[in-house]
Amino acid sequence: MNVQNIMTNLEAKHPGESEYLQAVREVLESIEEVYNQHPEFEKAKIVERLVEPDRIFKFRVVWVDDKGQVQVNLGYRVQYNAALGAYKGGLRFHPKVNESMLKFLGFEQIFKNSLTNLPLGGGKGGSDFDPVGKSDEEIMRFCQAFMYELWRNIGADQDSPAGDVGVGGREIGYLYGAYKKIAREHSTGALTGKSYGWGGSLMRPEATGFGAIYYVVRMLKEKGQDIAGKTIALSGFGNVAWGAATKAVELGAKVVAISGPDGVCEIPGGITKEMIDYMLDMRASNRNKVEDMATKFPGQAKFTAGKKSWSVKCDIACPSAFQNELSEADAKELIANGVQFVAEISNMGCQAEAIHAIQAAGIPFGPGKAVNAGGVATSGLEIAQNAQHYNWTAEEVDQKLHKIMNDIYDMCVQYGKQADGSINYVKGANIAGFMRVANAMLAQGII
Ligand code: GLU
Repeated sequence: MNVQNIMTNLEAKHPGESEYLQAVREVLESIEEVYNQHPEFEKAKIVERLVEPDRIFKFRVVWVDDKGQVQVNLGYRVQYNAALGAYKGGLRFHPKVNESMLKFLGFEQIFKNSLTNLPLGGGKGGSDFDPVGKSDEEIMRFCQAFMYELWRNIGADQDSPAGDVGVGGREIGYLYGAYKKIAREHSTGALTGKSYGWGGSLMRPEATGFGAIYYVVRMLKEKGQDIAGKTIALSGFGNVAWGAATKAVELGAKVVAISGPDGVCEIPGGITKEMIDYMLDMRASNRNKVEDMATKFPGQAKFTAGKKSWSVKCDIACPSAFQNELSEADAKELIANGVQFVAEISNMGCQAEAIHAIQAAGIPFGPGKAVNAGGVATSGLEIAQNAQHYNWTAEEVDQKLHKIMNDIYDMCVQYGKQADGSINYVKGANIAGFMRVANAMLAQGII
């Protein structure tokens, strides 16, 4: 494989799909050396097959808002690769959703899901529907309209969507209710992130954030350090930041920043349990304003409009909101302020130049597809419980999640260890994830 040739080809075929091209380039650059040691991969054109999704469904979603007006959105499901199992990945509801964004997310999902060692293929979907300012009834009607189209293409052994940005427990509830009604099947594994009591797994809401902190703990341990007493800057205030803050505080760390599209909330004394609980209310309000935290806790949180979390001095920076949210300039500011570790909890949270700057400064960098894999891993555990018609305890799920994250960490070290003893976690995660998929594709023939 020659990465430049493949990229030139893809750029011509998919012009303007910048997120997709960025995600593909990162993976290909990481795996090039290993790939070229395997002529059987080249012969079977594994990379050429991997970069294109198996198929993409694109559909119109029509619904009626609270004023009685008809609204039209676009819906998508990208079924990317099923070498390891049925397609699996979240749904994102955000006005910026387009094919490029969902292709990048679906592509990342293939390798992330592979890292979990569970039988999960890669997929992603969503809509340009904007949940901000929508009533509960509008969200329900949109979810039902979305499922009118999608239901035929999902199922526990076919494709199992879950949440992502803009899609949480409430949305999954409405989506699953609509699915059941249309498909006339109580097939719980067709969606994950369900609530406990009707097929959901305990610990699924916490899983992405908890798993990320388990991974970060290992990154610190590698350097002989402990998370207790460390300051952490998170971005966003959604499900992922909530889970990460909960576990970080439990382990004695201090979360000193969260953020929103409106600006940053600095919390010099560290986030408290009450503030973490309030993050859930902020998300449920659909206002999408982090300023609400400072209004509610005036003495403890200070809001600055237009600033990001990366302007706050911290030991560990964890992007946990959206792709490309941490730029090269942000990375330089973090480095100048003494950051010691960076771990992406959002998918592709850092721009390529930011990763290069962080790595060049000798700062360990954990990539999203490894760090945030605990979410989809616990979705895999939810499907396993659904298939057994059984529920595991929170302790059982957490134990399995912790083991999966430790195994992912070990694989990243195994494939990412450099000649000078340092660990390139990006390379490690990409190679480890790729090898399992490539070998499965080889074994299953030219399809
Ligand atoms: N959206 C999450 C991710 O990026 C979870 C996907 C899932 O649970 O299927 O991995």
